[in-house]
Amino acid sequence: MDGSKGLEALGAEARKFISSPKKILIDGEWVNSTSGETFEIYNPATGQVVAHAQSGSKEDVNAAVAAARRAFDDHSEWRKMSPSNRGKLLHRIGDLILKHQDELAQLESLDNGKPVVVAKVADVALAADIFHYMAGWTTKADGGVLDLSVPFTPGTEYHAYTKREPIGVVGQIIPWNFPILMAAWKLAPALACGCTVVLKPAEETPLTALRLAELIQEAGLPKGVLNVVTGFGETTGAPLASHPGVDKVAFTGSTEVGKLIVKAAANDLKKLTLELGGKSPNIILNDADLSKAIPGAASAIFFNQGQTCSAGSRLFIQDKVYDEVVAGIAAYAKGLKMGPGLDPSTQLGPLVSQNQFDRVSGYMAAGKTEGASLATGGGRWGNEGYFVEPTVIINAADSAKVVQEEIFGPVLVATRFSDVDDELVRRANDSVYGLAAGIWSQDVSKIHKLVPRLRAGTVWVNCYNIFDASMPFGGYKQSGWGREMGHQVLNNYLETKAVCIAY
Ligand code: ADP
Ligand code: MG
Repeated sequence: MDGSKGLEALGAEARKFISSPKKILIDGEWVNSTSGETFEIYNPATGQVVAHAQSGSKEDVNAAVAAARRAFDDHSEWRKMSPSNRGKLLHRIGDLILKHQDELAQLESLDNGKPVVVAKVADVALAADIFHYMAGWTTKADGGVLDLSVPFTPGTEYHAYTKREPIGVVGQIIPWNFPILMAAWKLAPALACGCTVVLKPAEETPLTALRLAELIQEAGLPKGVLNVVTGFGETTGAPLASHPGVDKVAFTGSTEVGKLIVKAAANDLKKLTLELGGKSPNIILNDADLSKAIPGAASAIFFNQGQTCSAGSRLFIQDKVYDEVVAGIAAYAKGLKMGPGLDPSTQLGPLVSQNQFDRVSGYMAAGKTEGASLATGGGRWGNEGYFVEPTVIINAADSAKVVQEEIFGPVLVATRFSDVDDELVRRANDSVYGLAAGIWSQDVSKIHKLVPRLRAGTVWVNCYNIFDASMPFGGYKQSGWGREMGHQVLNNYLETKAVCIAY
């Protein structure tokens, strides 16, 4: 199949990468999978095949874990590298990402479908930023000195202290919605802490993780510290999650697969962090500044075609402003310029895959059959690629599928409430998820009263989907275990050793 349609927008570097053979990275070498199999990578804007990637096997995972174990050995170059030099290396990686910002943004847009302009200033810029931020932590993983008062050894004194040590070999499994950013959120803290890694990108979007791995090699990471095995969940991800040579698994993806990862890791009680799904409530109070709340609530759901775990997908609008907000968001949705991600004027691109297109289309149909109605959207856009219209569903019951389940597409469910204390808080928290929440109001007292009552890992007030390397991100309830970013993430990759010396 000719996959060249729409690729004229790629620069020379991205074009060169696309046409080079895709391999997997094991022990510093780019090799083919032992499976001898490859899988197709599609341009979501056209549905055409643009490249092939290696389908990693269990043997590849074994080899990658063995390489990561050797690189973690006491005498390895990596273990002997000083924290300061590790910091400089991370800094170089951040710089290289920025140097290749356009190329990476184009590859991301081609692979995932997202608007290239957004990929450049959000995905790729934030990916560089987490490496720069984490570069500063390599020298600050310090322990403490303890004053002991042991009652059963009178007369003996102790010098006791704590020491932070890297957790070991880490298996990292990441999703397709923010491919390079999820790779960076996982790799930067693991490397900052001195761990070694086997990374498995999502089968839908392996391109930027492979290019990032090349840049990381260029920055001078010793061989075997980072290994990248592309492939499918069942054949590549599952053997990694259950591998006895892996000390810790970090996973971002669906709650359904998160539960499988817990079972896979349970056998040898691996350390585990999970960043899973969401169905986040976004709340507009009567006193909100609607000139900010309407576009803010619209982009809270439509950003990244709705394929954001923290998307503000359940909009709670207080009664007095309900009609104006629904009309405003419907108008915003109709005004979004749709098109291929690689077109710089595109505001809303295609979904990532045929699978995701079918899934989201199924929810749109369910929204219509459960007694709900559409304020806008509800169908396919265009006649090729995986585009769906930005959609606003109204009048759905709280128990409806479209209100309870994560759709992961540009589909908003808007609902009306009148009372904050007895009604809104209960309904907003009526979800198995607890990733994020939003509040739009100009009344600081109301905001402060509401924030602690929302069961969510992040609460955005008069803004939404704001991310920063210094701000921890993660979920309550079934949205996950642990936090990424901020200094909190270091706990995911460090052990604490207590040392007690009698004298
Ligand atoms: P989605 O269903 O939206 O594709 P997933 O949670 O399935 O999201 O995918 C997230 C990541 O988890 C991907 O890298 C995928 O390959 C991987 N994955 C899927 N199934 C498994 C599994 N059983 N074990 C390990 N990893 C898996
Ligand atoms: Mg899946």
